[in-house]
Amino acid sequence: MESNHAIGYIRQSTSKQKSLEWQQDVIQQEAGKRNRQLVHVFHDKASGKNSERTGFSLMKASIATKKYTFLYVWRLDRISRNVSDLLEFHDYCSQYGVIIVSIADPITATGDSMARFQISVIGSVAQLQRELIAENQRIAFRRKHDLGLQLTARVPFGYRYISTDKIVIQEEEAETVRRVYALYLSGSGYKRICSILAAEGIKVRGNPFRVHNVRGILTNAFYSGYIDNEFGNVKGIHPPIVTRKLQNDVGKIQQSRYVKKKDFRRQLLTGKIKCPHCGKNLTIHIVGPSQKSRSYNKLYYYNCPLNSVNGKLACKGIHLRANEIEAQIVTAVIAFLNDKERLGQIQSQLNKKVVKKRDRTGERTESIESRKQAALVAFEKGVFSAKQLADELKRLNQYKAGGEAVQPKDELLDTVRLKELTERIVSLGAVQQMPTVQQYHFFQEVIDRIDIDSQKKVLGIYLKGYKKNILSEKKE
Ligand SMILES: [Zn+2]
Repeated sequence: MESNHAIGYIRQSTSKQKSLEWQQDVIQQEAGKRNRQLVHVFHDKASGKNSERTGFSLMKASIATKKYTFLYVWRLDRISRNVSDLLEFHDYCSQYGVIIVSIADPITATGDSMARFQISVIGSVAQLQRELIAENQRIAFRRKHDLGLQLTARVPFGYRYISTDKIVIQEEEAETVRRVYALYLSGSGYKRICSILAAEGIKVRGNPFRVHNVRGILTNAFYSGYIDNEFGNVKGIHPPIVTRKLQNDVGKIQQSRYVKKKDFRRQLLTGKIKCPHCGKNLTIHIVGPSQKSRSYNKLYYYNCPLNSVNGKLACKGIHLRANEIEAQIVTAVIAFLNDKERLGQIQSQLNKKVVKKRDRTGERTESIESRKQAALVAFEKGVFSAKQLADELKRLNQYKAGGEAVQPKDELLDTVRLKELTERIVSLGAVQQMPTVQQYHFFQEVIDRIDIDSQKKVLGIYLKGYKKNILSEKKE
């Protein structure tokens, strides 16, 4: 039995769409014209895809009560933008005898299957329209780009947006931009630049400069008058703040610094081995690969610095392949340490050290940042396991919201347990081509010195706080 009872459904998912009030008014008017009684209007207001549609669920439940004949919507896309969802919903409605009345996309067909067909056409056309709009937008962007125009009103630091074809330099900010380039070209790194600007009270949009701001200023082609985006690189119509050459020079330095960084290797035994001839601490020496042939890897050596710089006359010299000597020393140290009694000693020493460090800071509370630093250092030195580090950081992060200082918590720092310590130390024994930061800190901390003879034979390994040579110890 057809009654004149109706419900409505309104939805607004973006601020650009017709407001809920507007949709409700339109529905009410339409229902009124036909003397239909609009019993209830369900609504959803959300943004984003993961919006919960509570109103929609209530509306569906209401349809299932079979009390209503009409469902009013402003447009079909308020129900769904997806054609198959629309059809499914249409089938659901007709199952309960409900007719969908859409004001913007009227379904004029009377028969069920014709209505179904109409919905499908309306939905498909709407889909096509949305695609066209998106495509038109892309075309408009592309055209703008080809004309050397910025796509949106968002312009980089140093500029002000007046209109599409008018972007001007903000002189004070531009001065900072030029400064960043000058500082970088004179040898300062990103962090150094940040601290120089901070010391002078110079900010970027109200905040202190951070590494990514500096990097952005140095790399954004916009500053040299170009626009670089998904459509390619074109000369913009906006005024440049720095020259193309200046930006290229910066690029070259960035490249060279990057390469240098890749060359970096932590020498586990830095400062631990002396030249058997002259007594100087051995220093690192890198060999190859040559520019022409990249067929072999770099080789790292511990060399006598006198010999390396001044030749044989200064010192007969010695060359130790880094991987070989490190593997030999590390194996011996781990074997020595991996003994219950000795581990017990280290454990209590580590704990004492940690406690001492804590006592120094006294009763006062520490900042979260300094606590985090302490945890990272403990991790790097092999005192904390990765799990302990994660736990500690998690705990500290929980305080971050409130921003208050944290009372040092003793339990974590005291839990250098024997089992964990053993595992940590054994895991540190696997020395790769590139030693890890944990290995570096651990062996720098543990080893006092290594004695070698002129034939590269290791005579003695001495650990800090342990007077005897651990090699002679082993033989007993
Ligand atoms: Zn020497």
